[in-house]
Amino acid sequence: METRATCLNCMDGRVQLPVLMWIKASYPVDFVDVITEAGMDRVLAKQEDISEILRSIEVSVKLNKSTRLFIVGHYDCRGNPIDESDHHREIIKAVKRLRQICPSQEVVGLWVNNKWQIELVSETW
Ligand SMILES: [Zn+2]
Repeated sequence: METRATCLNCMDGRVQLPVLMWIKASYPVDFVDVITEAGMDRVLAKQEDISEILRSIEVSVKLNKSTRLFIVGHYDCRGNPIDESDHHREIIKAVKRLRQICPSQEVVGLWVNNKWQIELVSETW
């Protein structure tokens, strides 16, 4: 059966391929649905109204049968220009928030470092 994941990433073009390739290499995933915002980690951690993002997640989960959500923050993010430790805090906050909203999903926080490599920030089941 086809398997899906959902990637909530920054819109920055530098991070798309490294993240998609890492997800495909690390998990048994056929397709990755991608939802983007400028500074997605900040939006999910701090923005009160995330209904548009939740609408996309719902299509990915309910119709496309996604079973995993990835939340990505990255080095040199111009949509969320804060230091790395603050990014990590926001990613973890976003993971917890989506875990509450989508309890059936595995929610994984990722960090793209200054070498454009992917690091696992947090994982909840
Ligand atoms: Zn960014």
